[in-house]
Amino acid sequence: MRYFSTRGRAPVLSFDDVLLTGLARDGGLYLPESWPQLSPDDLHQLSGAPYAEVARRVMAPFVAGSVIEKDFGQLVEEAYAGFEHASVTPLRQLDPDLWLMDLFHGPTLAFKDVALQLLGRLFDAVLEARGERLTIVGATSGDTGSAAIEACRDRERVDIFILHPHGRTSEVQRRQMTTVEAPNVHNIAVEGTFDDCQDLVKAMFNDGGFRDRLQLSAVNSINWARIMAQIVYYVQAAVSLGAPDRRVSFAVPTGNFGNVFAGYAARRMGVPIERLVVGSNRNDILTRFFENGVMAVEDVYPTLSPSMDIQVSSNFERLLCDLYERDGARVNATLEDFRREGRFRIDPALFDEMPFEGHRLDDEETLAEIRRAYQAYGALIDPHTAIGVAAARRAQARRAEVPSVALATAHPAKFPDAVHKATGVRPELPERLADLYERREHYVTLPNELGRLQTYIQGHARITKDAA
Ligand SMILES: *Cc1c(COP(=O)(O)O)cnc(C)c1O
Repeated sequence: MRYFSTRGRAPVLSFDDVLLTGLARDGGLYLPESWPQLSPDDLHQLSGAPYAEVARRVMAPFVAGSVIEKDFGQLVEEAYAGFEHASVTPLRQLDPDLWLMDLFHGPTLAFKDVALQLLGRLFDAVLEARGERLTIVGATSGDTGSAAIEACRDRERVDIFILHPHGRTSEVQRRQMTTVEAPNVHNIAVEGTFDDCQDLVKAMFNDGGFRDRLQLSAVNSINWARIMAQIVYYVQAAVSLGAPDRRVSFAVPTGNFGNVFAGYAARRMGVPIERLVVGSNRNDILTRFFENGVMAVEDVYPTLSPSMDIQVSSNFERLLCDLYERDGARVNATLEDFRREGRFRIDPALFDEMPFEGHRLDDEETLAEIRRAYQAYGALIDPHTAIGVAAARRAQARRAEVPSVALATAHPAKFPDAVHKATGVRPELPERLADLYERREHYVTLPNELGRLQTYIQGHARITKDAA
């Protein structure tokens, strides 16, 4: 499989290059040149197959031609062996036509593990085949750093440095990062804010010499391989509920549009998906867009569902490119308008063909939904998941012709305060994390100074030790 950039001005690349590159050189995002098709027969065959088997078969066409193609099945097997539940992403029935898909059984209790556990292994395998190394740097306000760290820990070819603002993350979040025992994992508490951390990371990427010496890379949400790995559970859930003979809808708590775009990709591959319901919090740029066709930036507000507190959903560009039938110039022009004016509008005719609809919940409604789910189903759900469940129910109230699956993107114990506030119950960490508060933490504290940070990273990255 080969991949092209949404903006049409970067070279077409192989899977391996797309994996290691992330963002295209023209600023675009990569998409596969064609959508592999799953026939009704294929879907029948996947029904009842173990997760790793479904994963291997759904992703095989995307990694065709990769240096790791032969080992791919093994890598997939290893990536999902560490999940706490045998079916990796199990379904729970809530109502006759409403299901919850638990995506939080990975090491950090959030859905990002599903993609990142595979991504770390793919990075390592491709780098090994090429005899190369990478240094990953990133900044986190708390929620995404741990998934990246767990993805990269103990990987031979990758070192990871994650910056967090000293004293400004929740204790669970900090401990999930700092208690990892692995020689290639480096936590840095910066004496500053999250914005300071982000600025430091940007500055390191902008320092060409440093970037090349360390082969800097990121594991951010625009990497195609993350979308690819997320397609799998849409297929798995659909066949479990009767695809290809029965259609199904999904409701997705959405931030960067990566997760729900994977659902769209599954639909493009032939999975009979009726609706893709986007749930947002007060930061409702997408919901407004699906209501009126206008994408317009507003301020970002902190909410109870921080992983969805975004201003611009970077993966939306992939949908735009598909709707514009890969006309890179048109994608570019639209994004130019967006950059200049903070808004763009799309042709209403394109709209009719889209399976999307949006629903928003403010924090009060989110707490009410957590409470309702506890009373009605006896289920403790986190604030992100609550937004998905409420969005699914609202969409069903409009038209209830097929079963809906709401995606549970985080374990309730990741957001214990909100869950406790809504239900009076404090969700417990799963057993394997029960001693999190007793584990030893590993991190260094550094001032908000680029030079000190670069010296530290250079002194600890294996790639510079090789060179020395
Ligand atoms: C990242 C995240 C989301 C948003 O997913 P996107 O792919 O960015 O739309 C939702 N819920 C949780 C818990 C997350 O960590």
